[in-house]
Amino acid sequence: MNKPVDTATLKALDRAHHLHPFTDLSGYARDGGRIISRAEHIYIYDSDGNRMLDGMSGLWCCNLGYSQPAIVEAVTRQLGELPYYNNFFRCSNQPAVELAAALVKVTSERFNHVFFTNSGSEANDTNIRLVHRYFDLLGKPQKKQIISRRNAYHGSTIAAASLGGMKAMHEQAIGLSYVHHINQPHCFELGGEHSPEDFGVAVARELEEKIDELGEDKVAAFIAEPVQGAGGVIVPPESYWPEIQRICDERDILFIADEVICGFGRTGRWFGSETYGIRPDLMTFAKAVTNGYMPLGGVMVSDKLADVLLASGGEFAHGLTYSGHPASCAAGLATLAIIEETGVIERAATALAPRLQSQLAALADHPIVGQVRGLGMFAAVELVRDKATRERLAPESEAAVYCRDWANAHGLMVRQTGDAMIMAPPLVSHPEEIDELIALLTRALDATA
Ligand code: PLP
Repeated sequence: MNKPVDTATLKALDRAHHLHPFTDLSGYARDGGRIISRAEHIYIYDSDGNRMLDGMSGLWCCNLGYSQPAIVEAVTRQLGELPYYNNFFRCSNQPAVELAAALVKVTSERFNHVFFTNSGSEANDTNIRLVHRYFDLLGKPQKKQIISRRNAYHGSTIAAASLGGMKAMHEQAIGLSYVHHINQPHCFELGGEHSPEDFGVAVARELEEKIDELGEDKVAAFIAEPVQGAGGVIVPPESYWPEIQRICDERDILFIADEVICGFGRTGRWFGSETYGIRPDLMTFAKAVTNGYMPLGGVMVSDKLADVLLASGGEFAHGLTYSGHPASCAAGLATLAIIEETGVIERAATALAPRLQSQLAALADHPIVGQVRGLGMFAAVELVRDKATRERLAPESEAAVYCRDWANAHGLMVRQTGDAMIMAPPLVSHPEEIDELIALLTRALDATA
């Protein structure tokens, strides 16, 4: 237990010394925020004694909620036995080895190798390094361009932020010159009069057009999330992924699936790639791999790349001090064991996701809801003033920020992106907790209307 300290002092110290990520720093230094002090099952508690249903699984990571003693035990045991050693210089450690093997087992047979990082951002940086190295080794050093999607989120390092397409980040972080963007399969925003299926094909073909524009011999890879999460749970039309897969296959473009949010059950299967039947060459994971208990990310590397890297000789000059950290890997192993032993992915897909999605779908009739979209255990509710014209409820995002703040202040942690409210409750929620989430969200919508 943390030693008791009075909340006002803690908040004052926080405002004085702590620069928070993705936060209006001057606003925070002035007004402060809340100190989250403990968590249990799917509820978090702040130092003022408020209890909140965590409708976001932390930050899309605590898929198994906050009461998993087996993960705590595994990490504690590992810290007692070998708290750290690096994986450079021909050294390895037991949890890293076992987690690599366990990840190979739960991913598709295309993947037999893993490169560990601490985060999703570093994993996406690693993807770029791997892709560039691969084509260099194949004698195609000119193949360096990477295509991503506007409004994507792939992390916050310079390279990952370049891959991402969020406006505010691009304004503050200089994009890498070899990263390019095409549109998202965002029917609500871009679909116009198209049917979803026609739109899915049309927006996928932007990839082909971009490859033609840049030159097939120069384009190395396309990166995307199976369902884009942080940008607003953008569920693609069924026609989208088959067309993207066809283009990548025909044009010799590597496909990187960023499964940092979709992975480990969020879409109803282990990975979003499985849900959509897509065949990535590289797959990014992080977050729920340790249930958020320890920092860990990585890249699953398909045989296509691994065979070339392993045959090459010579050093892959990339790595992190904590790549394959023993305690993080122990947390990952314990997490995977719980997922397998409890069948939580299937249970959530059959007993919770239909309940979540059908109750959310009913909110489409709410006067300020323009669209409800979702898949499995995540969803977005897009706010509008006028359902037909899609006129905004307030200057962009204001209404959604209000709605989020109202929900957060009344016992429900959800997030907002643009004009959308987004949620991703833990897969271990009880059915009646899904009902509670919807009831609280409905009250927040009513308060915003
Ligand atoms: N990729 C996706 C799809 C993400 O949603 C995120 C984080 O939200 C990242 C990468 C970056 O992961 P991290 O914050 O662990 O660096």
